[in-house]
Amino acid sequence: MTPDEFRRHGRQVVDWIADYLESLESRPVRSQVRPGEVRAALPSAPPERGEPYEQVLADLDRVLLPGITHWQHPSFFAYFPANASGPAILGDLLSSGLGVQGMLWATSPACTELETVVVDWLARLLDLPAALRTDSAGGGVIQDTASSASLVALLAAGSRAGGELARRTVYTSSQTHSSLEKACRIAGIAPGNLRVVDVDPRTLALDPEHLRSLVSADVAQGAVPTLVCATIGTTGTTAIDPVRRIGEICREHGGWLHVDAAYAGVSAVCPELRWINDGVADYADSYVTNPHKWLLTNFDCSVLWLRDRRPMIEALSILPEYLRNAATLSGQVIDYRDWQIPLGRRFRALKLWSVIRWYGAEGLREHIRGHIRLADEFAGLVAADEEFVLWEHHPFGLVCFRPRWPGLPIQDANEATIALLERLNDSGELYLSHTKDTEHVLLRLAVGAPSTGREHVHAAWRVIRDTYAAMA
Ligand code: PLP
Repeated sequence: MTPDEFRRHGRQVVDWIADYLESLESRPVRSQVRPGEVRAALPSAPPERGEPYEQVLADLDRVLLPGITHWQHPSFFAYFPANASGPAILGDLLSSGLGVQGMLWATSPACTELETVVVDWLARLLDLPAALRTDSAGGGVIQDTASSASLVALLAAGSRAGGELARRTVYTSSQTHSSLEKACRIAGIAPGNLRVVDVDPRTLALDPEHLRSLVSADVAQGAVPTLVCATIGTTGTTAIDPVRRIGEICREHGGWLHVDAAYAGVSAVCPELRWINDGVADYADSYVTNPHKWLLTNFDCSVLWLRDRRPMIEALSILPEYLRNAATLSGQVIDYRDWQIPLGRRFRALKLWSVIRWYGAEGLREHIRGHIRLADEFAGLVAADEEFVLWEHHPFGLVCFRPRWPGLPIQDANEATIALLERLNDSGELYLSHTKDTEHVLLRLAVGAPSTGREHVHAAWRVIRDTYAAMA
């Protein structure tokens, strides 16, 4: 493709995206295709001859769009959001256009140095402790996902803990994201050495007293408590683990405190939400949050900060001959390849930089506050309805709730709630997901798409209410 052809098709593609974003509301939120339908509509063999780009775009409309679930739809309330925004899309496009691979400072100095600036900016925006910024012994780095970030934290924690791998223990709760269990498998933590700490049944937050007793028993047996994961905003219900009390226990035993704030962490752009990070400044060894969830930055963009980068670099740095270069050997530059699992890396900082510059701190705060207001409004509708039970804790954009299903035993009520969820999602009018407290299935409505407004939240409640009424 020549630059002139690129210019022409590039304009078509940008127009296509703008039209798509404008058309979102007319589309069913969740794709309605059956398994295999998209694949069957595509040729099984690649073309022998190149095709005009228009044909690619035509197939995008004809074949792929029906198989797309519209994450940016204003009535997408499932999971946590995966925000996209104009500046992030443009930043990603620029990154593709530059086509750099920033594994080393030397392979594109600006790719590394912009990343350093942007992760430090974000730390300031969230009022994270100065110890996590790059000028200190610590620093931040953009990862693809929080899953990778937690794995990096675990490897760094292992490097700091030392000793035999078989004696290392890790502590999570039943509400911790499954990526921690996966990280343990990858890092070679013995399956029996992953401890699942109890949660308070009312709040679903990790019980620090149970943590303390597990850690003490392990230490008495000669185990090495290596990492404790505290979550700020659990995946199920956005529970907030008591970071400070967990941190105190880590401090007593030398364990690494990893804070997973993948979804909720970005809300600390708002000063009134900074209470969520209580204990982070004093105790966190690492902290992860995902601008790709709720901060207007297209997937993928997850930021991991560490208080001390050395154990991570000890765990991950290998310098083969072909990567040796004067800048690396001078010790004056950061090579982010040592801060992540893969070698190669995209220029993700560009999209986060675009987002922060376009919205400014003010715009980012308004984005978060707007969703929290809508979530509060939705929670009010649920609370006012006697046939529904509201999960009281909803400090962010997620509201959990369930129908009472009067007269039904819990098991049947849970099945009825799942049937309601499926009927709602099949309708194409909205998309919700679910979780479970200690016994009940809860519906999850996460307000988070940039285009969601009051009308969408009220419409969602009407559909939920009417569908429930038809089933009850
Ligand atoms: N941690 C928490 C609390 C999450 O809610 C999620 C995903 O929803 C993750 C980690 C995993 O995020 P990622 O997809 O970036 O790995």
